[in-house]
Amino acid sequence: MTLAIPHARVSNAADTRVQLAGPASSTHPAGVPSVAGARLTVPLVDGRHVQYANLDHAASAPCLDAVREAVDELLPWYASVHRGAGFASQVSTKVYERAREVVRDFVGARATAEVIFTRNTTDALNLLARAVPAGTSVIVFDTDHHAAILPWRGPNVHRVTPTANVEQDLDEALARTPTGPRLVVVTGAANVTGELWPVARLAAVARRHGARIVLDAAQLAPHRPVDITALDVDYVVLSGHKLYAPFGAGALVGRADWLRAANPYLAGGGATRQVTARAVSWNYGPERHEAGSPNVVGAHALAVACRTLRQHWDAVIAHEEALLDRLRTGLAAIPGVRQLSIFGDSAPRVGVVSFTVEGHDPNLVAAYLSAEHGIGVRDGAFCAHILVRRLTGDRALRASLGLGSTAEHVDRLLTALHRLVEQGTTWDYELVDGRYAPVDDPRELPAFLSN
Ligand code: PMP
Repeated sequence: MTLAIPHARVSNAADTRVQLAGPASSTHPAGVPSVAGARLTVPLVDGRHVQYANLDHAASAPCLDAVREAVDELLPWYASVHRGAGFASQVSTKVYERAREVVRDFVGARATAEVIFTRNTTDALNLLARAVPAGTSVIVFDTDHHAAILPWRGPNVHRVTPTANVEQDLDEALARTPTGPRLVVVTGAANVTGELWPVARLAAVARRHGARIVLDAAQLAPHRPVDITALDVDYVVLSGHKLYAPFGAGALVGRADWLRAANPYLAGGGATRQVTARAVSWNYGPERHEAGSPNVVGAHALAVACRTLRQHWDAVIAHEEALLDRLRTGLAAIPGVRQLSIFGDSAPRVGVVSFTVEGHDPNLVAAYLSAEHGIGVRDGAFCAHILVRRLTGDRALRASLGLGSTAEHVDRLLTALHRLVEQGTTWDYELVDGRYAPVDDPRELPAFLSN
């Protein structure tokens, strides 16, 4: 179906350019680690090719060049972990176990904390959900990502809607829950709005009630240092693919007691000390929950990303803050664009901005940005349906910044949105399986996909 979208051919792109603060550079600032794909070009529907403007770091971040090089260096040595006497196996085992220590340091965990490699944040939270003692009361904010809301089941799960005073919300929720083991789930940075949660203050509230706290750092860890000892948090979870290490590893780090007492998350080889015809005795360390062949490449990639970010925090944060300011100021100047927020416009945040464009379907806007401007953003409800519906009644767009972002990318987005609200799209779009796509999309997929 072709939609009748009012549109006008754009004859002179320069006519509609937004006035912006300074010259936009497409090159990377000094001191910011580089990423793969920084010079990627993508086709547009009009036949041109442009540099890809990846404004979707919050979904999955591009691979750090340092990670790619480290993985390349490891691959000749890649062999079984924990099981082989061969030299390459010993090297791989060393790489894997060393990665635990790097991740431990990255999140500021104590030497006694367990560092368990998982597939991602979702996996890590599901592991923790299986490990909490029976009858544990769990308190979670309903504004969180589904990965934080859904793993906990049963009558002891309490979903709290945050107000402007989240410490009081938590205090009241904990006062209502029965004594016994309690766990509070807190997000470091909201995946919809990028807003920073007052983690240390919420941890202090949890402590007063004798509750534990798990920090979902999926969005925080790529943008800010995390120190769970300083924050007084019991557990932290994160994903490698959001931390510029897209090789399938994430981590759960935290207090060992519940994790050692729990049944293994996965049953199988590697998690056992001894198996007889009648009985199984399980390992006590992190291996207890890591049955199966470990993802040594993913763990190494994650560790290298952690090390690289730690060496460059000042430049990383300065780069992101400058771009975030440019983005938010620019969005605020576009008629009909509304930026979303949980705690208010001035709340501190990382480089993630969700917004709506009045009168324009977010999915159509995302398709237009890709097809006509080579910009990648996310649209929808971002696995945070309760929050996005509350803020918009429907869906939104999200632009998220990271190491691969440049001022030119931000400016291109702002120019494209201005053009959209003033003139509409240039191409026609149709609904295909519920999502908008350019009519007769001429863009070809890269050649390697045709092999
Ligand atoms: N928590 C937050 C805040 C997230 O943004 C995400 C991913 N969007 C997750 C959890 C889940 O992460 P993953 O998909 O890597 O498991």
